[in-house]
Amino acid sequence: MENYKLLTPGPLTTTSSVKEEMLFDRCTWDDDYKKMTQQIRRRLLEIALVSPHTYTAVLLQGSGSFGVEAVLATCIQPEDKCLIIVNGAYGERMVTMAKYIGINYVVYSVPYDRIPAVNDIAVMLKNDRCITHIAMVHCETTTGILNPLEEIANICKKNNITFIVDAMSSFGGIEIKVEDLAIDYLISSANKCIQGVPGFCFVVAKIEKLLSCQGTAKSLSLDLYDQWKCMEKEGKWRFTSPTHVVAAFSKALEELTAEGGVLARYKRYRENNRVLRDKLKAMGITAYIREEVQSPIITTFLFPGIKFDFADFYQYVKANGFVLYPGKLTDVNTFRIGNIGEVYKQDIVQLCDIIEKYMEERINE
Ligand SMILES: *Cc1c(COP(=O)(O)O)cnc(C)c1O
Repeated sequence: MENYKLLTPGPLTTTSSVKEEMLFDRCTWDDDYKKMTQQIRRRLLEIALVSPHTYTAVLLQGSGSFGVEAVLATCIQPEDKCLIIVNGAYGERMVTMAKYIGINYVVYSVPYDRIPAVNDIAVMLKNDRCITHIAMVHCETTTGILNPLEEIANICKKNNITFIVDAMSSFGGIEIKVEDLAIDYLISSANKCIQGVPGFCFVVAKIEKLLSCQGTAKSLSLDLYDQWKCMEKEGKWRFTSPTHVVAAFSKALEELTAEGGVLARYKRYRENNRVLRDKLKAMGITAYIREEVQSPIITTFLFPGIKFDFADFYQYVKANGFVLYPGKLTDVNTFRIGNIGEVYKQDIVQLCDIIEKYMEERINE
């Protein structure tokens, strides 16, 4: 099989050294493995810029959605009510989860190319005193829009609201001061900006909040409290853990540190994204959302003209070594390009050259 680089928002292209960690079969109850789990948990707290006295990190089997669902299923009491902010498919997914779990919720949605308005939320909180929680996606991977974390965090602080953040595609790639922002639950997964392989998710949780969630969960496998309590004992995962994925993730964390930490990685991603958007714009391929709300993670582009056929474009680019992503919007024709993972400016420049050639050969001829 021809090898290609993934320009997708995760699973993404990882380093050979991260993949090599998976060539060894580890024992789940061995001390070295448990130590690895504990080290990962400590490192995640450092990346989240929180104190280990007030926050904890819980790792959980499954993809990112499992982590979001575990928080919604474990951390919202029957008398609580959650305001779910929606401007993309991942916000919508939280609503679907809320329905399945049967928690009280209310939705605040804005068009997918807009960010939530803080004033609207303030009014909703004022008119509905039953709202106890707000759940929001940080980087909506659907479009690549970056939601205003600080503003929503402030409104949560002011109103004593528990703040749940799906930071799946941003954590590790964008600095998030979890404790300063008083985020209560932040969810992310192994295969996004930390640059591991898929197989588990994690939650950075305020201990004080999590302590009150014993026995609340509506699902055994997704009981975040139980998972936490078990993991606190020497780092033992409840149920079988994805040992290869955990080892790869541990290596990926080391590599994040070696790169210079979150800020250095952010700079690389931002530069990748800037080069990508500038070069495509020059070819007449424009982004779906305004530059001011664009994340440095993934970009949604409009089809350049009626002759453009995504399937053909995809195959052409793939044959030249890169895999892109289809769009996730129903009303406009779009495609997406992620720029996270083991991807550098020279890769983006190379991709843009391929796209330019494609445009000359098939679109502008
Ligand atoms: C990737 C992602 C998820 C999780 O999706 P899975 O397919 O379950 O891994 C959730 N929210 C956002 C914003 C994401 O980018």
